[in-house]
Amino acid sequence: MTHYSADFALLADKSDALALCRDDFYFPQHNGHSALYFCGNSLGLQPKGVSDYIEQELKDWREYGVEGHFNSKRPWFSYHKVLTESLARLVGALPLEVVATNTLTANLHFALVSFYKPTHQRYKIIMEGNAFPSDQYAIESQVRFHGFHPDTTIIELFPREGEYTLRTEDILSAISFHGKELALLMFSGVQYLTGQRFNMQKIAAAAHDVGACCGLDLAHAIGNVELELHDWNIDFAVWCSYKYLNSGPGGIGGLFIHEKHAYSDELPRFAGWWGYQESSRFLMKKGFIPEPGAQGWQVSNAQVFQMAALRASLDIFDKADLRVLFAKRDALTGYAEYMLHSLLQEYPHIPLEIITPKNSKERGAQLSMLIHKHGKELIDSLLSYGIIVDWREPNIIRLAPAPLYNSFADITKFSEKFKEHCIRLFANK
Ligand SMILES: *Cc1c(COP(=O)(O)O)cnc(C)c1O
Repeated sequence: MTHYSADFALLADKSDALALCRDDFYFPQHNGHSALYFCGNSLGLQPKGVSDYIEQELKDWREYGVEGHFNSKRPWFSYHKVLTESLARLVGALPLEVVATNTLTANLHFALVSFYKPTHQRYKIIMEGNAFPSDQYAIESQVRFHGFHPDTTIIELFPREGEYTLRTEDILSAISFHGKELALLMFSGVQYLTGQRFNMQKIAAAAHDVGACCGLDLAHAIGNVELELHDWNIDFAVWCSYKYLNSGPGGIGGLFIHEKHAYSDELPRFAGWWGYQESSRFLMKKGFIPEPGAQGWQVSNAQVFQMAALRASLDIFDKADLRVLFAKRDALTGYAEYMLHSLLQEYPHIPLEIITPKNSKERGAQLSMLIHKHGKELIDSLLSYGIIVDWREPNIIRLAPAPLYNSFADITKFSEKFKEHCIRLFANK
């Protein structure tokens, strides 16, 4: 059991093996100082290496023109491969199973085309209620595309009355209840609103037991929590890279397709030339032949500048021992939770409630809080002091200390300021 205190924070920063990584990032500036930044779950900070990586591609484009596809320092034809190993490590996959391509929602659609093949016996999709809207729209439109109605096809799971997060046992019983009718279990790895980390291995196994597929949206999970997609036997997964992976706005998305599907010629897909067998792609022949594995789901000429930005961030991840990164994540989040609890003990009238699970195995680097009144005012006043946390209507504050660049001192400073602002805002109210 850790004893948290300001002393704890000083010592923890001193003994932090990842402390130097902070210097690899630019922090937004506020009145000449670095802002306190806790929005790595929404948009990660810019790694300092990004401009060199992008400048390299600008230079190669200037100097080679079209020849850069094959002659540049990192040939554009295969640029995605300079990302594969680092991404495979983060998601627990074989290189064959992973590709950086497109964007999250586009990849979700492409994966659903392959893995959601409803029949009149087996057509239902189970997903978490309050899923990220893009996922809801993607699933709903796919269901309609196949001629089914979302109301009778999509089963959304909500927490029990009076609870904020889903119980694994309830997910498992829904899976077995819909059993023979279940085509797909589609879940996030970490829920974007509540910060709940799901037991991906268990729910995937349950979906397979009833004969369904399992897909994951890892937008809030990659770079944040332990993932073993290959061993967990996940069929497909998608992610974006601008959150914990720090690739910048609209960064390149990612796709995982399990090895067991790598050579399948039964899966339908919406194909494009960049997914064509690499060795003969430029022969421009009629009749699609996919490259084996996840690369076969690429569609278009790849987005080299976006991939270059991601490469800079993955350099930092590559240097980090993931066990150390995740241990720091738990300590930072635990310390923030402790400080918030202390505040509420001292000032019980502050209308704040943490809804993220307490167990570190059921969360990542995020604490979500309900604030029952004056939430927007609180956020705006924090922002005006250079404290960047995230606000979701109507009443959710999300605080995400990213272990790659946040320090324990950041949490101490945040807690002090947060307390001041709360006391002012809720005095006599
Ligand atoms: C951030 C996020 C997205 C964003 O999708 P894009 O296609 O990258 O815009 C989708 N789903 C989830 C769960 C997210 O958290």
